[in-house]
Order: sequence, then structure tokens, then C-alpha cells
Amino acid sequence: MPSRNLNQPGCTISADVAVIGGGVIGHSIAWEAKRSGRSVVVIDDAPGSGASWAAAGMLAPVSELHYQEEDLLELMLDASARWPRFAADLARAAGTDPGYLATPTLAVGADAADRQALLDLRAVQQANGLAVEPLTIREARRREALLSPAIACALDTPADHQVDPRLLLQCLRRVLSADPGGTGRGAPFMAGAVDGYAVLDRAAGLLWQDGAVAGVHLEGGAAVLASETVVANGLQAAELAGLPDNLHLPLRPVHGDILRLTVPAHLRPLVTATVRGLVRGVPVYIVPRQDGTVVIGATQREDAMGQESGSSAGAVSAGGVYQLLRDAQVLVPAVAELELMECTARARPGTPDNAPLLGRVPAGGSAGGRQPGRARQGPAEPPYVAGLIIATGFFRHGVLLAPAAAAICRDLLYGTEDQRWAPFNPARFSGGAVRRTEAGTGLNTKETA
Ligand SMILES: Cc1cc2nc3c(=O)[nH]c(=O)nc-3n(C[C@H](O)[C@H](O)[C@H](O)COP(=O)(O)OP(=O)(O)OC[C@H]3O[C@@H](n4cnc5c(N)ncnc54)[C@H](O)[C@@H]3O)c2cc1C
Repeated sequence: MPSRNLNQPGCTISADVAVIGGGVIGHSIAWEAKRSGRSVVVIDDAPGSGASWAAAGMLAPVSELHYQEEDLLELMLDASARWPRFAADLARAAGTDPGYLATPTLAVGADAADRQALLDLRAVQQANGLAVEPLTIREARRREALLSPAIACALDTPADHQVDPRLLLQCLRRVLSADPGGTGRGAPFMAGAVDGYAVLDRAAGLLWQDGAVAGVHLEGGAAVLASETVVANGLQAAELAGLPDNLHLPLRPVHGDILRLTVPAHLRPLVTATVRGLVRGVPVYIVPRQDGTVVIGATQREDAMGQESGSSAGAVSAGGVYQLLRDAQVLVPAVAELELMECTARARPGTPDNAPLLGRVPAGGSAGGRQPGRARQGPAEPPYVAGLIIATGFFRHGVLLAPAAAAICRDLLYGTEDQRWAPFNPARFSGGAVRRTEAGTGLNTKETA
């Protein structure tokens, strides 16, 4: 569909909801908002090119459990429970499959120390009510014939599933650009946006009016006006101009190298389900796709090799590729016979507590406090910055958490808030009161003030 040229200063587009950032998080939130009957635009000059492009798509609340992350576990389990319905609704609306598979995950240890580490983790998983069952090597090899006979242990993790993030993004784009019938709710198709929803420009900053966020100022000089703006641009969220005063979004890049390989016909399927291994204490995983490829990942490094400032893309580490192929072959020796198709590196948007920054921003109150949501048009000022929702910092779990993030944002749009998610308040690292940006009579951005 032809679009109005939004690269014209002064040109505006209006929507109920403006989402900054077109990764899995931004697209999922946009779709949920559209499904609730709202008009939506997604602002991104390179949609789908961030961390979401690299992700393996493991939906792994059990394997990803870490000590002292109980709040995050609750959110991961909530998201995991939403996945079957989310995927089915999406497949129906898009007319195509996002590659969701409810196949189990096999955890494998290469040597005695890896075995002990996985059993220690199992004790924590069991203490949290999660099912992880030891298998004999024979049972594991009956399930996965190409698994090395030399592995030290195998554990079945039935609740950890997978989706193909690239297919997922395709589906989400399709339902956002599909005629509104796809939503069944008649949400408006946004004139002026590409395919009715996409604004292919970068957000420069937030627009404010009367103490509330009223939309987005674009780098090209145009503006998007919206009753609600969702900041979902991953690692770069903190760079936006016009964020509320004192709001500190402590995002850091945690780079990951990841490989995509084709399995020759005589070796298919290489594995039937996700294999997550520990090899001399280093994690590695093999995720099979339905198209005969596998994903092998992922390193975790905090150096900035080849990274442009603020970008989530970076150079692939030779040492990282070597390590992944070496360790994957320890678990499944036939990996050596695969065709290497793609090496990708992206940065995960990490936070100090590995949990997302998700929710409304309390105004003038204590950061992270459990405050009830309130409708914006009440007589008193709401206890949060009106018109603004933050959804970033999804670190290693953005694909898993996408349906939960979308549902939480939808509830916030309706003015309701589930107190279970208060620990993810985006102002929890801001150390005190967060102030609205100075109210103006017209639209203004803080950075131009
Ligand atoms: C190697 C690797 C493997 C992973 N595997 C998994 C996995 O198996 N399971 C899982 O759940 N998670 C996984 N993750 C984590 C997951 O990829 C992220 O948590 C998730 O993609 C974050 O999504 P996002 O939409 O917040 O960010 P992104 O996908 O990074 O999207 C942000 C978007 O914002 C846009 N943007 C940036 N600045 C601006 C601006 N100023 N204006 C407009 N747009 C802007 C960018 O162009 C980008 O498209 C993995 C990550 C990596 C790197």
C-alpha cells in the first residue's frame, strides 16, 4: 500500500496507540491492542532486525530458572501458559503458522560435573514445583538417536517448548497489516502508515502535552499523535528524548552469537526436539525447525565487538562460533556434517536483575510501589505518567514473554493492573520520585526544550 511521506516536518499521523520498536515485543503488544479494537502504529526504521532476529525461540520457563528469580519465574510460567492460545489465535488470524511446537526439551550433561550441575538445578526446579525427570542414556537415545552415547546424563523437561521467531514476526506483521476483519473487532486501518500500521522511521523522542505523553516525535521531522505510547525499542529505549525526568532505564547489551545450519536429508531429523546441554560447564542448545534446519546457540558475552553505539547488531565472534560448534558436536557428533548457513550476533537487552522493565511509570511516587491503576480522565491526576507504557529489558526471554507482555499492556490500556507484575515496574531502578516532564501548552519534546 502506498504511504504518505512521513519524512516531512510537520506531517502527522494519529492512532490510539503508538508502539516504538518493531521486535517481537512491540509487534505482540500492537497486535493485542489492535485485537482490543484500538488503532495502532508501530514505529521502526528496521522492524524485526534487533534481538528478535537472532532469537532461537525457546519457550523455556523451566530450563531458564535461576536462583532468586521467583518473580520472573511467575511471569515466565504465565507467558508459557498463554502460548498455545496465542499461537493458535495468531495462526488463525494470519492464515499461516508461527512455528509453535509443544515438543519437550531434553537437558543433557557432557561429563560428571555437568551432570551434577544439572541435578543441582533440578533440585531448585523441583522446589519450585517444576517437573524435570531423569532419563537413562538408553531412553534419551531412543528419543534422539543421534545423541552421543558418551553423554553423562539426560533429563526430560516436558514444559519447555519452542516457536520460530522469524515466522512469528511474519505472522504478526500479517495480522497487523491484514484487513481489520482479521481481528474480528473492526480496528481501524491507519491511513498514512505503511500497510496500515507501520511507520518506517526512528522515534527521536516523546511528545508531551499538559503533563501527559501525547505521541512520538520522529527523526524525519514528522510526528505520531497517540493517546498511549508504548516504549518497546529494546536496548535503545533509554536513548529516547523526553523520557520522564529521573526515569533511569539501566539497559546493557549482552551479546549472543547464534548459528543456523541445514541438516542433509540422510541425517533428518538431527534431533526431534530441543536439546539443551552443558559441556564442561558451558551451555549450548540445538533447536530443530520444521524446515530441516537447526539453530545452535548461543554465546553470552558483554564485549562490544563490532557494535555500533546503541545498536543491538554486532560482529560475530570467531571464538564464539568455534565454541558453539565444538560443544554441539560433543552432544550430537553429526553436527559436523551439517551445512553452516548463517552466523548472527545480536545484543540482548539486559537489566540488573535480568527482569523486564514493564508497566506504567509512577509519577512523583515511590518507584516500584504497588499502586492501583486509575483512568486518565479522572478528576485528580493519575498516580502514573499518563499516556506512557514502558516494555523493554526482556533480556534472554523476550520471545517467551511476548504474549504476557502484550496481555499486561492491554490491561494497562484498559486502566487495570495485575499486582503480580508490580515487581517489574520500569521505575524500580530510578531511586525515588519520577516527575512528569514540564507541562506545555502545545506539543513539545524535552530534548528540544
Ligand atoms: C542469540 C540470542 C538468542 C536468543 N534466544 C532466545 C530464546 O530462545 N527465547 C527467548 O525467549 N528469547 C531469546 N532471546 C532474547 C530475545 O531475542 C529478546 O529478549 C527479544 O527479542 C527482545 O525483543 P524486543 O522486541 O524487546 O527487542 P528487539 O527485537 O531488539 O527490537 C527492538 C526494535 O526497536 C527498534 N528500534 C530501536 N531504536 C528505535 C527507535 N529510536 N525508534 C524506532 N525503533 C527503534 C529496532 O530497530 C528493533 O527492531 C535471544 C536473544 C539472542 C541475542
